[in-house]
Formats: sequence, structure tokens, C-alpha cells
Amino acid sequence: MRLEVLAVAAHPDDAEITCGGTIIKLTERGKTVGVLDLTAGEMGTLGSPEGRLREADEAAKIMGLAVRENLHLPDSALTDAIDNRRRIAAVIRKYTPQTVILPLPEKQRHPDHRMAAIAGYGACFLAGLAKAEIEGEPHRPTTIIYASSFLEVTPSFYVDISAQFERKQQAVAAYRSQFDGSPQSKMIFKPGTDIMELLEIYHRKYGVEVGCRYAETFWIAEPMLIDDPTALAVRSL
Ligand SMILES: [Zn+2]
Repeated sequence: MRLEVLAVAAHPDDAEITCGGTIIKLTERGKTVGVLDLTAGEMGTLGSPEGRLREADEAAKIMGLAVRENLHLPDSALTDAIDNRRRIAAVIRKYTPQTVILPLPEKQRHPDHRMAAIAGYGACFLAGLAKAEIEGEPHRPTTIIYASSFLEVTPSFYVDISAQFERKQQAVAAYRSQFDGSPQSKMIFKPGTDIMELLEIYHRKYGVEVGCRYAETFWIAEPMLIDDPTALAVRSL
């Protein structure tokens, strides 16, 4: 099985929340997309690891994922240790994605999100080293994009998810144990905020900024080359 896109996330539900609309848009277009969750979220106040994995499977179906794996690294103790990078790199070699989606390394409240970004980037590099002692043939993704939704950075680009927003909500709602409306459930992503409210407010705000109903935001570290400046989906006036 080859993947065109692999999203690496710290906890089950992170990929849904930060870039689920874009993942759904890609799978609707026939792209093969997978998610690698690094932990099972076992330190979460709500739910059990087994329950969260079941919910992750349900969300995977809603998003149309070709594959979803979990490395079972320690939740809330995630590091970018070389062994962790090797394990992520083995998954990259197994599925040979050209595009990898990572959490943004900066401005993260949860340290695991930052570590997932650093370990994920290190793994992309490591996976391409012929002499690295990792299972599989060397493979290095071409493009890394960072999911920046909800974080105070200037995005490099926005993805219109207006047509996918409802399915994104369904994928997030699949995590019933996490987002049950209880006071604890409102402490998970942005303290004090209901997740569905958060999605509505932020994705609508991003949509307003680019002239569509709902959007997700991404940041890239490198300059972007385009072929035809007249085809830019930019509304200046
Ligand atoms: Zn998380």
C-alpha cells in the first residue's frame, strides 16, 4: 500500500481537529491518505485508550483514510528521541508518502504536539538515509506542510473546506469519550471552549479571510514556487 499523504499526529483526534477537512477533501479526490498517531492518548482525563482507538477507527472511516496506525509511544511524555524518529521513519518507508502533514512545532500548548512536529520532521529526514538502521527501503518525502489551525501564526496557505466541514465535524464527534459536553471535555484543546464551537469560530474566521465559508490553515518553512501567477486564488480587492 502506497500513500500519497501521511499525517503524523501526537494523539488520536489531533489530525481530525487540525486538518481533518483537508484530509477529507483529498480522499474525496481519490488521493490515498493515512494518519499515524504517535500515542493512544492514554493520559487523557476522559475515556480509555481502547475506547479512543475505536473512536479513531470510526473517524478514519468518516475521513476515508486508506490506513491509520498508532505507535503507542507514551502520551504526555513524547520526545524526539532517535528511537522514536526511527519508528516514525519506518512507517514513512513503508508507505512512501510524498507529502507529510505535521503539527506546527511552535506555539503549541501541549508539549506532545511540538514533539510530534520535531520527531516527525527528523523521521522524514532519517527515512531517506540509506545507511540508517531502519526497516524498509530509503524514502524521503518531498513536501512537509504544518497544520497551523487555531495557532497564532500567519498561514502560508488556506484550504477551502466548506464542502467538507460537516464531515469534519462528524469525524471529530466520533470521539464521543473526549467531547461529551462535560466541563472536562472543554479543557482539551483550548481550555474553556467546546470543540464544536471552536471549529465553527476558527474555520469560519479563516474562511472570511480568504473569501469562502470554512477554511483550514497551513504553514510551510520553504518558499513556494508557482507556475502561473494569474491562476492564484487570491482576492485582493
Ligand atoms: Zn493532541
